[in-house]
Amino acid sequence: MNNIITGKNIVKTFGKGKEQVTALNGVTVEIAKGEFVAVMGPSGSGKSTLLFALSGMDEITGGSVKFGHTELSKLRENALADIRRTKMGFVFQQPTMLRNLNLLDNIILPAVHKGYKDTAEISQKAKALMKKTGISGLEGRDITEVSGGQLQRAGICRALMNAPEILFADEPTGALNTKSADEIMGLLVVINQEGTAILLVTHDAKVAARADRVLFTKDGSIVSELPLPKFSGTDMEARGDKVLARMAAVGI
Ligand code: ADP
Ligand code: MG
Repeated sequence: MNNIITGKNIVKTFGKGKEQVTALNGVTVEIAKGEFVAVMGPSGSGKSTLLFALSGMDEITGGSVKFGHTELSKLRENALADIRRTKMGFVFQQPTMLRNLNLLDNIILPAVHKGYKDTAEISQKAKALMKKTGISGLEGRDITEVSGGQLQRAGICRALMNAPEILFADEPTGALNTKSADEIMGLLVVINQEGTAILLVTHDAKVAARADRVLFTKDGSIVSELPLPKFSGTDMEARGDKVLARMAAVGI
């Protein structure tokens, strides 16, 4: 089994009757172990719904999603939560952090939830991640005392605490300026090079251009797919152009 995620004919509807919205209209997608996949598409095209479906965060209406060999919809909520907590990491546009905890304590929360008793060990792990993401020295800061870019780095540290096999990121650079966004993307590339698969939702062609493969969504379907060579770090412009050309070709 080379796939970490296998989604087949995924359908997701919201609401009933006249109000019903089909957010995913029979989507089939595979993510290989260690692969970096970006999802691009207009607002409302189903990107976030796809991320929620593939991560088991949301129940699907039809079709199937497997994590390795495990069919997510067949799991009880506890077992599903366990997989999400121990094998998956999540990063959103705005990291939700607890206001009454400092940055370090926010980062170690998932490890505490996982039941690790050795707080010295988890603190050490968190500090190593903070160093790696360039926010060493901010451990004791209140979450209101750091910049948006620093808070997002902390969000990434938190997502990596349990060493996930896949990182799900929904518009992780959406609230950041270009410089911070570039730095965060550089970080995601390194995390991927170290073996973590990534599913990244973005509406920014430059952001998507770092991936191994870009999926383009429109009206709840994947309408096109663009495989790219492994990112070398110096081919950014050409990659961005390829993504933009494909967007134009499919009309998004
Ligand atoms: P994207 O992330 O590409 O902007 P979404 O996946 O959030 O799009 O949404 C896809 C469609 O599903 C949209 O029409 C949206 O309004 C609808 N939708 C998403 N979440 C819900 C929800 N919880 N209830 C009702 N409709 C929803
Ligand atoms: Mg979205």
